[in-house]
Amino acid sequence: MNFDILIIGAGPAGLNAASVAAQAGAKVGIVDDNALPGGQIWRQGPQHRAKGRAHEAIEAMQRSTNVTYLSGTRVVQASGARQLLVEDASRGYTIGYGKLIVAAGARERFLPYPGWTLPGVTGAGGLQALVKGGMPVRGERIVIAGSGPLLWAAALTAREQGARVMAIVEQAAPHAVRQFAASLVYTPAKLAQAARMRFDLRATPYLCGAHVSAALGDGQLSHVMVKQGEKETRIDCDRLACAFGLVPNTTLGTALGCGIDENQGVLAIAVDDLQSTTQPDIYAAGECTGVGGMELSAVEGRIAAYAALGNVAQARALFAQRERYRRFAARMHTAFALDPQLRGLAAPDTVLCRCEDVRFADAALHRNWRDAKLHTRCGMGPCQGRICGEAAAFCLGWERNGARAPFSPARIGTLMQVQTQT
Ligand SMILES: Cc1cc2nc3c(=O)[nH]c(=O)nc-3n(C[C@H](O)[C@H](O)[C@H](O)COP(=O)(O)OP(=O)(O)OC[C@H]3O[C@@H](n4cnc5c(N)ncnc54)[C@H](O)[C@@H]3O)c2cc1C
Repeated sequence: MNFDILIIGAGPAGLNAASVAAQAGAKVGIVDDNALPGGQIWRQGPQHRAKGRAHEAIEAMQRSTNVTYLSGTRVVQASGARQLLVEDASRGYTIGYGKLIVAAGARERFLPYPGWTLPGVTGAGGLQALVKGGMPVRGERIVIAGSGPLLWAAALTAREQGARVMAIVEQAAPHAVRQFAASLVYTPAKLAQAARMRFDLRATPYLCGAHVSAALGDGQLSHVMVKQGEKETRIDCDRLACAFGLVPNTTLGTALGCGIDENQGVLAIAVDDLQSTTQPDIYAAGECTGVGGMELSAVEGRIAAYAALGNVAQARALFAQRERYRRFAARMHTAFALDPQLRGLAAPDTVLCRCEDVRFADAALHRNWRDAKLHTRCGMGPCQGRICGEAAAFCLGWERNGARAPFSPARIGTLMQVQTQT
């Protein structure tokens, strides 16, 4: 399989890139590991079909005869010059490309606290994905916690499916959240969306400057303790959905040798004005280059595609729009910056690495991430440190280091494809 332009990720960035590239007549491939297109925000499932802008973007891709959409397909390795190794449910194979657009999005950041590995505890976006995928939550009592606007989206999705959202627990200080809310006047569409969410969730307590200090239960979550200043309150619940913002997915960019930069306190694939990475013919767009929301991802996807097509004038015409949403992103990061006191949430016996069952205190004995990995196997399980590596970076101030290929568990037969071809 060979494409003029290959796009990794069918979220807002990837779909917008595909639409621009397809209109120009290029032979386009788009790879995504989910069963249905849409990425995170436009995730589809039995309880959730695409509407509005999401529907338009997905329909446009499906109508284009020069776009090949490879669903349920995961990139597991960069396998040679202009080639990626992918795997789907039945086989592994390589895909060649002339130009590559990485639009791999972001993932949630988890921080360890007592009880965070109990059944019943998920991420906020994780809960949303489960609900959209058909998991019933009707009648369940749910606490949504952590930080950022995603908490509201997750709360609304759960409520629409009949859950009782007991509280939204936000770590950012009340004045920071108020300031952010006031700044939404600069992005009227976001203001309208926020107002709608606030109205729909008007009966739900929104606790700012607060965090879950422990999730408790006998083999299954039954209640959480919420700390707000000096006050600690018990909230009974069936589920806790907790995540502390998002971090860009940089694994593929790193494996391809693209430069990685710090962007708003997290590592992201470095790009120039035209969304070009430091590697020739490789572009990156959307939240893998920095977290900023759907609108920013979409416009970056379009710029990357125009740049890949050599249409610099059309790309430049979108710079002002991108700048507007970058300013929104900067305000969001300032408002929801993590409170340093969250570094101390874990108890010594709290699990840090869920894959290898490593306790926080055992990892913290070491000088850095590499030493901790060598001595405790922390970060060496199936998730390759994507969860605990980020937590260790925040809690212990350790430098992050990238995951090795294969990026996710892959079949031996898939890995042998590379061997066979070299
Ligand atoms: C779990 C979660 C839920 C979210 N829900 C919301 C929400 O409800 N509302 C909101 O405003 N924002 C939400 N966000 C924020 C959201 O990420 C963005 O606003 C928007 O979706 C970003 O678009 P994107 O195209 O940059 O990336 P994404 O939408 O994340 O799309 C990237 C796609 O690439 C795929 N991918 C990544 N790596 C690979 C690989 N190696 N091989 C194949 N495919 C790969 C991913 O599975 C994903 O489908 C959510 C974020 C997360 C992490």
